[in-house]
Amino acid sequence: MTTSREPITEAEWQAAVAAIDGAGQTVISCHLNPDGDALGSALAMQRALERAGRPAVTSFSEPFVVPPQYRFLPGLDRLTPPSRLPADPDLLVCFDAGSLDRLGSLVPAFEAAGRTVVVDHHASNTRFGDVNLVDPAAPASAVLCRELLRRLGLPLDPEIATALYTGLVTDTGRFQYQATTPATHQLAAELLAAGVRQYEVSKALFETNDIGYLRLAADALGRVAQVPEASLVWTSVTRADLAARGVEMDQTEGLIDLVRTDAASDVAAVVKEQPDGSHKVSLRSKGGTNVGELATRFGGGGHAFAAGFTSRLGVEGTIWSIVDALAGRDADRAPARPLAG
Ligand code: 5GP
Ligand code: MN
Repeated sequence: MTTSREPITEAEWQAAVAAIDGAGQTVISCHLNPDGDALGSALAMQRALERAGRPAVTSFSEPFVVPPQYRFLPGLDRLTPPSRLPADPDLLVCFDAGSLDRLGSLVPAFEAAGRTVVVDHHASNTRFGDVNLVDPAAPASAVLCRELLRRLGLPLDPEIATALYTGLVTDTGRFQYQATTPATHQLAAELLAAGVRQYEVSKALFETNDIGYLRLAADALGRVAQVPEASLVWTSVTRADLAARGVEMDQTEGLIDLVRTDAASDVAAVVKEQPDGSHKVSLRSKGGTNVGELATRFGGGGHAFAAGFTSRLGVEGTIWSIVDALAGRDADRAPARPLAG
């Protein structure tokens, strides 16, 4: 991975290679509620080590459920539930997590590991590992995983390439977001040449929804609202919406991609009610706003133009606080005002 900033030093790469090459019992992990990049990077590393005769244990936090759109990924049967992880592994390698809390129920395993390697591309990364391979310019953690495999001398096969391609194609928004470069397309070409059946992957990821999800999307889009003063467009998904359409929250990852297409707004938000009554907020910007900074201020994190956080202010309170932050106002002194939608 070559960038103008070269944020990962040669010494850091070498430290990561030495840690992985010298390790006994190894645990591979990623952030909780994993997405394509988190799962793809972790499964690629697991398979590459396994092929080299170095089996590793791969897991992620409770709720230990792979979202339906990623169930085509090869190697899911080799995932280990968090309850069966070794208590104090030699090494833990973690992909796509910007901070320790993003490991959820795997935090104790991380803290007990003899050595830790963090591989990530979030601008908000807190560098919480012993070794940190963090490049905010990388369009996906899968890009860093591929470079790590190269340096470890572990070759690609169709399964590894499929896992890495899944990370690349999802985190770049199918090669459309700002971080996509010629090198991104060159990596995609390398992975296709290694045996990815790209239309099968695209179909599973982007062209397979339950009809219930389409109806839920219609419900949520039916009440989409603009806040012109903040160049914001937003909607929400409640537990009642999910129940009415027989949909799980982890099927709604793509909803923000519809909301963000509003021509009049730079920032898009989807507010999702969680089982504990809190709300998880997904934020996107088309380039005019650093939503990663905004999310970090609210206790979350992410990238400059794709980020998230958890709120305890309810739907309207959450939207007000985002509007105030976007408008540069002091939330405490802003008058409460009704919001459409
Ligand atoms: P999404 O909206 O797809 O859930 O997340 C967008 C990006 O923001 C992802 O890169 C994700 O890792 C990050 N992100 C989302 N929610 C949180 C959060 O609560 N904390 C942190 N640190 N990052 C988050
Ligand atoms: Mn990622």
